Amino acid sequence: MQITKLEHGVFAVRFDTQAEACQAFKRVQEFYENPVLKGQSGITKDKVDTWWKGHHDGTESYDEHWGGFNIPGDVLRDFLSKHEDLDDLERSVFTTGLSGAQEVAYLVAGFGAIGSHEWTSLLSHELAHAMYCVVPSYRSMMESLVALLPKDLRNAMNTELLAMGYDEFVLNDEIQAYLATGADSGLLAAMKKACPGLSFHGKTQSWKLTKTKPRKNTACALSTTKIETCESKRERIKLLIVLNTFQSSYLHFLDAGESANTARATG
Ligand SMILES: [Zn+2]
Repeated sequence: MQITKLEHGVFAVRFDTQAEACQAFKRVQEFYENPVLKGQSGITKDKVDTWWKGHHDGTESYDEHWGGFNIPGDVLRDFLSKHEDLDDLERSVFTTGLSGAQEVAYLVAGFGAIGSHEWTSLLSHELAHAMYCVVPSYRSMMESLVALLPKDLRNAMNTELLAMGYDEFVLNDEIQAYLATGADSGLLAAMKKACPGLSFHGKTQSWKLTKTKPRKNTACALSTTKIETCESKRERIKLLIVLNTFQSSYLHFLDAGESANTARATG
């Protein structure tokens, strides 16, 4: 395990394995954003696993599904004050590694070797959450962009995120984090249903929207309307600008933080 202090009081914890990351963070993560368990004292790993099994029909366990974690510092301190029964792994992170979390403005965690795709993609998604919480100008930029998304697309993303297990109060935060750093497969599929022709190009890290032929003789009036909406050139251009601005804004704010770090280190 490795703990790094970043800009704005953000700390990043890297684990070698997904199982270790989940075992260290599942209680505090669900204390933060679980629809049923949030804010409660007496959260155990068994309670989290039982909730997960009751709400997800897939074969994946909690520890196989989740790899990245994010918690505001005040929520972490609240969790620690209500949970004195930390196990050895939790103690090594929160008590020994972070000295009781007094300096933590925001905590992110993930797993993978340094420089690996797993670690860099998890870290970039979790850093989007950290900036949303601790950098007010980033948050207001992202909130404006979320408000500009077409209603159909936003509704489709909200529905999928709720099905993935996120609580309502983090929906906008998750939308900005996924659009800024790349949507995962389930969310991408939901987006494509609302907006046919939408795709994400990993190589150029940009969104594309190819023209789709309006379906004739369709029995579903609703889907025809959606396709026609995406067929409008004006709407397509507007949507592409909004989607790609999520990423460019994220990179801009990230670079600004890194420049500040460099200036501090050399100045
Ligand atoms: Zn997230």
